[in-house]
Amino acid sequence: MSYKLFKNIDIYVVRIAKRINKETKESEYYTAMSKPCKHCLAFMQSIGIRKVYYSVNEKEWACESVNKMTTTHCSHANRTYQ
Ligand SMILES: [Zn+2]
Repeated sequence: MSYKLFKNIDIYVVRIAKRINKETKESEYYTAMSKPCKHCLAFMQSIGIRKVYYSVNEKEWACESVNKMTTTHCSHANRTYQ
């Protein structure tokens, strides 16, 4: 498979988290921090993704150029399963 397909594309990442509303006791869903971890970032850099947009919290999104981006973040899944 050729990774040329991924050249100059932008990627959107979103994480939907769930919480229980203390007053109504009902489930609420909200966008949460989804900055790519170092493994995902290295992969996106290797295939030439241009920009990544990711949810920061309920109200904010961030956008970074993949080739200028740094992260030391390691996702919970990575910490748990490595
Ligand atoms: Zn990751």
